[in-house]
Amino acid sequence: ATLRKSQIKQTKTVCTYCGVGCSFDIWTKGRQILKVEPRPEAPTNGISTCVKGKFGWDFVNSSDRLTKPLVRRGDAFVETSWEEAYQVIRERMGSILAEYGPDAFMFIASSKASNEEAYLVQKLARQVIGTNNVDNDSTYCQDPATYGLRQTVGFGADSGSLADVAEADLSIIIGSNTAESHPVWATRVKRAHKLNGQKLVVVDIRKHEMAERADLWVKPNPGTDGLWILGLSKYLVDQGWIDREFVARRVEGFEEYVDFLTPFTLAATEEATGVPQAVTVKVAEMIRDAGKVAIMWAMGVTQQQNGSETSLAIANLLLLTGNFGRPGTGAYPLRGHNNVQGASDFGAKPHFLPGYQDLRDPEVRQRFEHAWGRPLPTRRGINNEELAGAILDGRVKMVYVVGEDTALVDPNLQEIRQAFEQLDFMVVQEVFFTETAKYADVILPATPSLEKEGTFVNTERRIQRFYQAMEPLGDSKPDWVILRDVARYLGGNWPFYQHPSEIMEEVAQLAPLFAGVRYDRLEGYRTLQWPVQPDGRDTPLLYTERFNQPQGKALLGIPAFLEHPHRPPLFDIHVNNGQLLEHFHEGNMTDRVAGIHQLVPEAFIEVSPELAEERGLKDGTLVRLVSPEGAIKLPVVVTDRVRGHEVYVPMNTRGEGAINFLTGNGVDQKTKTPAYKATVAYLEVLSDA
Ligand code: SF4
Repeated sequence: ATLRKSQIKQTKTVCTYCGVGCSFDIWTKGRQILKVEPRPEAPTNGISTCVKGKFGWDFVNSSDRLTKPLVRRGDAFVETSWEEAYQVIRERMGSILAEYGPDAFMFIASSKASNEEAYLVQKLARQVIGTNNVDNDSTYCQDPATYGLRQTVGFGADSGSLADVAEADLSIIIGSNTAESHPVWATRVKRAHKLNGQKLVVVDIRKHEMAERADLWVKPNPGTDGLWILGLSKYLVDQGWIDREFVARRVEGFEEYVDFLTPFTLAATEEATGVPQAVTVKVAEMIRDAGKVAIMWAMGVTQQQNGSETSLAIANLLLLTGNFGRPGTGAYPLRGHNNVQGASDFGAKPHFLPGYQDLRDPEVRQRFEHAWGRPLPTRRGINNEELAGAILDGRVKMVYVVGEDTALVDPNLQEIRQAFEQLDFMVVQEVFFTETAKYADVILPATPSLEKEGTFVNTERRIQRFYQAMEPLGDSKPDWVILRDVARYLGGNWPFYQHPSEIMEEVAQLAPLFAGVRYDRLEGYRTLQWPVQPDGRDTPLLYTERFNQPQGKALLGIPAFLEHPHRPPLFDIHVNNGQLLEHFHEGNMTDRVAGIHQLVPEAFIEVSPELAEERGLKDGTLVRLVSPEGAIKLPVVVTDRVRGHEVYVPMNTRGEGAINFLTGNGVDQKTKTPAYKATVAYLEVLSDA
């Protein structure tokens, strides 16, 4: 018994799924996962986890794991040594660099890998190759929220913590299926609502669980939530239900914003959004009566052509009502992947250096050039959304992907797959043989988080360490080790990092946001919320004294909403999409967990009772949705969660039902984030249930 017990290992880790960033101990015996044990000292989740954090780890032992480097020989892949794989990469990347120059390269960092790994991907792009063509999944999701917050309050991130949301008098959730996408976060909101008297308003086109629970469900027409917020803001201003003292002391641009709001009367707002005037008045009264308001939002807002403008309007609303800088208040864009916040924070973006430092700022450039020993590229790089076009028009010849399934998550799958076929060379670092890996010339087997060390940043700006629970499977290696070795093969004069803590030390020297971040300050369940001062003081709540703008005052921004494009009458169905509780995003991990796959083996399409009656649909009827871009085939579920001609498709399917066969090239104007949630289609009935 003693021997058996000694073989059991208890390791602190951080969930590899959503941006809530739950942490817990995982018990293992060799490669066997015995249990997940949440602990009270976990700062965000305490003793809670959701089904994915608790039971979603068996993918690490999936027979689909890549365990050897692979190189393409014609249409097939053959196993090879690391040495040979690195040699091929050196030769091919070297000749593309010589022939086409640095901007013929694109680097995609993973929103699931660590901060240190995101930092190394952008360092490989900028310092070794000499291009700013580097991005991560945030372009596909929350960049519009980042934009709206940077324009107004200054930091593109949550202004406080989950504890603040729980403390609010009024929580407003906009365009977020929180109970399924961020389950533990939702649990805290539900508890505050049920036990502490917190009021809850949900603004969404779909009546999901949080909308069912809310004191008030506001249902705007698709894509009009931003206009509704403007109407709500105008009504608050007209009634004098704003915080004039706060605005006078801490905010600039009030008069201009009030002028801008003039046309958004209650009547005009009802006409534009479909929300009855009485509902808007009711929400305004709830804001008036609440001392502390917190607003959360997610992809229902951001994956729209006006996602940045809506995010700006949300930040403005909070400013007008004085809801920043106090416990229980603030703005909470809910990040999707476990480390999509960190991947951007640590510089894997085409327009920022690590810590959101401006590429063109001479002082910043000098610091990086001195540390990295070479001049840096100045031109803003391309992002993920621009990639397919850049390949198809011949600008990009080589793509280096670390842990993203771009050929499944890009909004236009036909186009990105066609583009990948045209590349001269492609390297994919991955845990599984994904759709994207199929296009690679070299595939390098990487390890999931349980087999390495590092840090993630959750949606609260909280930096957390995760520790190694088991050895890498087969010949796989942590991404930071692979990136270090590739850089050295390509001639980069990098330190021979022995541990991710050394990479963090380098970042702390270069990015003031992380100046005081050190591994010893993150030991066990200790965490730091950035910005972190050199002496280790962190910032759980932003903007208590000043906003992150040059004069310290917040700026009310003027949104520029675009009219929705004309919808051809044939495409009479509005297709919404989102998460299921059990699965995560494209399903590469959760679909490889036997228990989860068994629970929810296939996707479906939710249709309203009205649409079901109109078209003769029943549960299980097989239908085809056809958009201007493509088609998917799925069985129907009839439910009153959706209304009229609005349907809902989970995004968690990798096969023929993958939602991105339908989505297209519409984008948010400011950030190019795809308008995944603005898809139109027509519906064909294929067979009866
Ligand atoms: Fe993981 Fe998110 Fe679930 Fe927490 S809520 S256990 S971070 S998937």
